[in-house]
Amino acid sequence: MQRKYFDYASTTPADPEVVKVMTPYFYEKFGNASSPHSVGREAQKALEDSRETLARFLGANAEEFIFTSGATESNNQAIIGIARQLKNKGKHIVVSQIEHHSVLEPIYYLEKEGYTITYLPVDPVGLVDVQNLKKALTGQTILVCLIQASNEIGTIQSIAEIGTIVREQNIHFHVDAVQTVGHIPVNVKELHADTLSLSAHKFYGPKGVAALYVRKGVRLPSFLMGGGQERGLRASTQNVAGAVGLAKAIQLCQDTMAQEADLQKKLRDTLLNEIPKRIAGVIVNGHRTQRLPNNAHFSFEKVSGESLLMSLDMAGIAASMGSACTSGAMEPSHVLRAIGLSDELAFGSLRVTLGRWTTEEDVDYLLEELPKVVKRLRKV
Ligand code: PMP
Repeated sequence: MQRKYFDYASTTPADPEVVKVMTPYFYEKFGNASSPHSVGREAQKALEDSRETLARFLGANAEEFIFTSGATESNNQAIIGIARQLKNKGKHIVVSQIEHHSVLEPIYYLEKEGYTITYLPVDPVGLVDVQNLKKALTGQTILVCLIQASNEIGTIQSIAEIGTIVREQNIHFHVDAVQTVGHIPVNVKELHADTLSLSAHKFYGPKGVAALYVRKGVRLPSFLMGGGQERGLRASTQNVAGAVGLAKAIQLCQDTMAQEADLQKKLRDTLLNEIPKRIAGVIVNGHRTQRLPNNAHFSFEKVSGESLLMSLDMAGIAASMGSACTSGAMEPSHVLRAIGLSDELAFGSLRVTLGRWTTEEDVDYLLEELPKVVKRLRKV
């Protein structure tokens, strides 16, 4: 049986080049980056070179990045840290209704702690209304938190425009750029981000290593208690192999991003156009053009998304209902609810995400199998 992977938004395989440059850091270059001897200094140099590469890619300075264990940690630290740091200035936070759980959970926690939260609605294609956001800001607002591109429906927000407004009002702007970094150009200065999170396993790097951009001048407390690594911003021995892998992954993206995005857009548009032609009772979710080059998202009438995924899996196709984090839960996705889908349509959803190794043949195979699977399921 063929095996086709259409779940790159959930995670990507590491590029062989990434694994190659990481390997020495498990063996001969295994040092602790805090050790003063030559073994440690070698690790420290690799860590700082990686930070430099990352910063260059995102238009920042190396000292503005810390390495973390995942974007979940990056988002948690930025949100909780900024809320605590600025609590004497105000206790109002603005987020969209379609944030990732690693943003929403710390927000719910802060709400219980007495912060006031505005959850901004989105329109039917998943866009935040910029004027609406502007109106939500008050003298008490200390933090605006937005996902740059939805991990579910792929819609890309007008972050630079929003960032300009937020900066003008001297409010901290946190951007979750996990789905965009490595896939579309991201420049922290152009976005006016004060903090920004990204994760290596979404762009062909290793799992368990990520980064948080912290703009120079922003005061952010450490989230973990322990040593003074990462300029006191993140305690714990650094994952040097991971950082080296993240940097290599970024560098590869820099070289190939434009070309890959063009190809993926073509394949994505084939899916967006062909699936509704070949199957009745389908809607396409998300913005038609202002969307990730690799994301296609659909809802099928009278089909259970769970059964659809299982049947596709039996045909050798790995896809998703939405985010890996929400699939398996009995609640319909909060993102699909926010764009106004009925529970029935939300439960009948399919996310198809493409990547570096997706071919035209893969897409053809999906286009052949999906109508058969949907037809069979609807009969049942
Ligand atoms: N934000 C978004 C938009 C994501 O898609 C993810 C991963 N699903 C995360 C944050 C969390 O990233 P990590 O897996 O590195 O913790």
